[in-house]
Amino acid sequence: MRELLKRYGYAYHVLDDPEVPDAEYDRLFDELLELESDLPDSGIPPDSPTHRVGAPPSEGFKKVAHLTPMGSLDKVTTDDALQKWADDVRKRLDSDEPVAYVLEPKIDGLAVSLLYEHGLYVRGATRGDGLRGEDVTVNLRTIDAIPLSLRGDDPPAALEVRGEVYMPLSGFRKLNERLVEESKKPTPNPRNAAAGSVRQKNSQVTRGMPLSNWAYGTGHRDGVVFESQWEQLGWLRERGFRTNPFAERLESIEEVAERCRDWERRRAELDYEIDGIVIKVDSLDQQSRLGALHGRPRWARAFKWAPMTAQTTLEKIAIRVGRTGALNPWGVLEPVEVGGVTVSRATLHNEEDINRKQIREGDLVIVQRAGDVIPQVVGPAGKHRKGTKEFRMPSHCPLCGAEVVKPEGEVMHRCPNRACPSRGLETLINWVTAAMDIEGVGEQFVRRLWELGLLRSMPDLYRLTLEKLLELDGFQERSATKVLSAIELSREQPFSRVLFGLNIPDVGWVTAQNLARHFGTVARLLDASQEEVQEVDGIGPDRAESIAEWFADEQNRTLVQELQELGLTFEAREAERRVEGPLSGTQYVLTGTLEGFTREGAAAALASLGAKVSDNVSKKTTGVIVGENPGSKAAKAEKVGVPVLSEADLQELVKGAPATTHVGNVPPPRRR
Ligand code: NAD
Repeated sequence: MRELLKRYGYAYHVLDDPEVPDAEYDRLFDELLELESDLPDSGIPPDSPTHRVGAPPSEGFKKVAHLTPMGSLDKVTTDDALQKWADDVRKRLDSDEPVAYVLEPKIDGLAVSLLYEHGLYVRGATRGDGLRGEDVTVNLRTIDAIPLSLRGDDPPAALEVRGEVYMPLSGFRKLNERLVEESKKPTPNPRNAAAGSVRQKNSQVTRGMPLSNWAYGTGHRDGVVFESQWEQLGWLRERGFRTNPFAERLESIEEVAERCRDWERRRAELDYEIDGIVIKVDSLDQQSRLGALHGRPRWARAFKWAPMTAQTTLEKIAIRVGRTGALNPWGVLEPVEVGGVTVSRATLHNEEDINRKQIREGDLVIVQRAGDVIPQVVGPAGKHRKGTKEFRMPSHCPLCGAEVVKPEGEVMHRCPNRACPSRGLETLINWVTAAMDIEGVGEQFVRRLWELGLLRSMPDLYRLTLEKLLELDGFQERSATKVLSAIELSREQPFSRVLFGLNIPDVGWVTAQNLARHFGTVARLLDASQEEVQEVDGIGPDRAESIAEWFADEQNRTLVQELQELGLTFEAREAERRVEGPLSGTQYVLTGTLEGFTREGAAAALASLGAKVSDNVSKKTTGVIVGENPGSKAAKAEKVGVPVLSEADLQELVKGAPATTHVGNVPPPRRR
């Protein structure tokens, strides 16, 4: 195990080309840790992976010694383990003195140490084995977020600043698009991309990479005295470093646990990957009394969430024809646990993507879950392949047999047959399982009734009778009645859910809610022109056109009318129309890239507190929130005399907003 872990560590830390997912490494590491603690007399060698940090610096770089060693973190994954750590901390401090904690997102990047002499940046190094790292001074100099001199007077003679260089997700996606365009291998994840970029021989390459840095501590420091981590973060900020805006000081371990759970849900809102929360005892005096063991401080823990990746065998690549006729490949997996859920199928994108990533049937693959999104096959695990055949899309639609087309410039293969059963079937499945969320009625039920010709569109569902169901195998009076009353109940589902379920092109959950809120009733939507639809938050001219067209289409109007006659909800309720909150009556416009939020996340957070988020600056606008590289809206705000706000102002505004991408009192549809 030690040899295997060393090999994996080398591939990860030195080659930036991991052989196995982190979850697999962590699992092995934990097992070794347990074995070593069970067998303390077995002669644990000093170079055991559990006794060291990272990996020795690579031969390709000059080595530099850190003035103070750089550690690694012990992790906890459950509330119990967190509580146990807190108890241990108290016991070691051996008194009733209060303990406060500082929480910081654990950024998944590359740890660096930056040396400043008399206020000037003179050296930058990777962590290496914790004692000695690689000299990457010149490369780090190209990162704008790393100041080349300290702000303020009286700089210390020497100061080591510790931080994490990372690649924002937006930059990571752009980088991979570029690599694919240039027919190069895309990078597997932002951490690797950041580590690879920093450890370049040519600093010009680093300069072209979208890298940033969060500072989170110091190592050696001449003449600077702090009492706490919290004070230290504030000082770093004043001296010109970026410190993470979500850092927080809490006074009870229960609150800490709660916050870790919040962040597990919220992490998808951030424009960078975090793999946990770092929890540090705030007082530096307490920190030094607690000390460290094998380079891992006793005063800090990384709270890590259940791993979101795992490896398993891809048994087969199957095809599903979607609501729009697109042929979606998906993987049939040998069941595996990912993030606490057993996964047996995962999405694959399209033929090109599958072959570029060299994913083949029979291979061991890496599966990933992100938030509540459907699991995906990321790529092959390891280098040993079993699958031999490259994947090919079928030439004919598996449902209707029509010849499959691949329109010029598109990556998806499509079934061109508008009457292909796939479209109706998938819309129905989405209606039942996601939009209406009908209890006890699932995909199997829909497929079965579809095959029997009993279900062709949504209205059929509401015309099912007890007699019809009882004719089917497996239905008793009780189960049939239960199904019928669940279907009956779905008539109460709110307007936004109905709109979402209609399968209007480009209308997802967020847009469905905005349409419901803006128009209030379907009658107004049926008559809406493109211009009127365009007034809805977040809808541009193209989407407005296709939405207006959908409602003008005779067939669609008939569908809406039938559903209305069957008693489905086509009017927004009070709760959908307006969200009351501390920001009710205000109206904000967002422009530019935000660091701590996605656009959708920021808009949802504001809306959940009652604010309106609009695309246009006008006299009614309360404020324009400006991120990096803002568009013309920032200039317009100044012209109209509307206040311009920063991301920090936004954070202040939405403090306490629930972690959500939906607004109002309507829970989001389940994702299939
Ligand atoms: P760690 O989990 O011990 O955490 C320490 C690191 O956290 C620091 O060095 C720093 O880079 C980072 N960090 C981010 N935000 C921080 C903050 N606010 N305060 C303090 N530190 C912060 O990480 P490690 O020692 O670098 O290595 C362990 C990790 O590497 C594990 O996640 C493991 O899965 C992965 N790994 C994977 C493989 C593989 O083959 N896939 C091999 C080796 C290691």
